[in-house]
Amino acid sequence: MKARKAFLEQNLEAIGRDGMNGSKRSRLAYTREENDAFSRTMRLMEGAGLRTSRDRFGNLYGVIGPRGRSVMSGSHLDSVEDAGKFDGVAGVLAAIESARMVSESGANLRRPLVAVAWRGEESVRFGKTYLGSTSAFGGCTEELLARKEVKAFEGGEPKTLREAMRLCGADLSCLKGHLTPRQVRAYIELHVEQGRVLESEGRRVGIVTSIAGNRRFQLRLLGLGLHTGAARMMDRMGCGNAEGADASFAMARIIMWLRELANELNNPPRLRALEDIRMACPIIVQNGGGLTTTMQNVTMKFDFRSVDRGLLESAKEGFVKDAREICKSEGIACECEDLAGEDPFSLSGGMVERIGDACREIGVEARLMPSGAGHDAKVPAKSGVETGMIFVPSKKGISHNPLEDTRLDDLALGTEVLAETMRRLAEEK
Ligand SMILES: [Zn+2]
Repeated sequence: MKARKAFLEQNLEAIGRDGMNGSKRSRLAYTREENDAFSRTMRLMEGAGLRTSRDRFGNLYGVIGPRGRSVMSGSHLDSVEDAGKFDGVAGVLAAIESARMVSESGANLRRPLVAVAWRGEESVRFGKTYLGSTSAFGGCTEELLARKEVKAFEGGEPKTLREAMRLCGADLSCLKGHLTPRQVRAYIELHVEQGRVLESEGRRVGIVTSIAGNRRFQLRLLGLGLHTGAARMMDRMGCGNAEGADASFAMARIIMWLRELANELNNPPRLRALEDIRMACPIIVQNGGGLTTTMQNVTMKFDFRSVDRGLLESAKEGFVKDAREICKSEGIACECEDLAGEDPFSLSGGMVERIGDACREIGVEARLMPSGAGHDAKVPAKSGVETGMIFVPSKKGISHNPLEDTRLDDLALGTEVLAETMRRLAEEK
């Protein structure tokens, strides 16, 4: 079975144009831009011979084959702000193409093949990931629907998720999901790696063994704003209490310590197994202040990720303790607040083997690897569906960026691995 490179290439381009605003591409969860991509994808599914339907949360399904427990594959169509073309879209197109390849291969299908496009995987708009897939598997709650946009992306007042979903045609009169492990035999998601392990090792396909968990939290550093000219340095360096302290020094020391601690924790065996910890401080917000006042209050937001739960816990605890010590020595008060946390998750060993079998059939040597990023695949996996993931290389490991790129040959090869895996699952008794 051969994947059509032209189909993949042309539609990456076409969907990539949905949500272009000037030179920037942005298709946030439950927006008009995301809708455009869904309409286009529905036509693609129909063109590939799939019967399409939407669920009450706006997710899109394309089905082919007999009734029964489905073999499902897909990904998301929303994006971050100023995004590339591949994240999510590559997996949706690979799923559609795989369903077509298998159904046209003369395979003896005992189960339906389903290509799915999920809504709202990225957390950019509502501060919460996997909105569509979570809802489809029965996780849509009043609390989730009451969540507000992190800022008013469409102008006016920030909308709730409920309002945004309704504007996209969702029917929220009932929140029951309609997918259960009884209906889905297996879920396999192809995704771009978004890191550079495959590229650096010269591998073209990865099989994901586990998905990293995260700890997200913030530190609020509370100092005292003083006149930058009138206050002597000795009066703003801190003296064990908050009087006269400049928060910028503590902030800088905490950032430098973040890198040092990460290096300390990531010893070589961990790095080789990719079971290291990744620690970032992507957001620093200064509250108030001006150029002529020393930095008074600053909020630092952290995102730690690892597939090792113990390491995640101890790194976070140790880091917060150290940050408090730094603040104390700078005379700064420090408050810590947890924002979100998800434990790492192991994917089905059986599915890792099945994808491995498909790779051997095709003659490609795959790299077993954990995923540092979270994916929709976590949702069916957690609800009990046997789940697997296929990675294809990201050039230079760049993602969540307009420079995101994957060689078309690699995407086509990954799609062929996906199709072979789906065929085997759909033919089994
Ligand atoms: Zn993604």
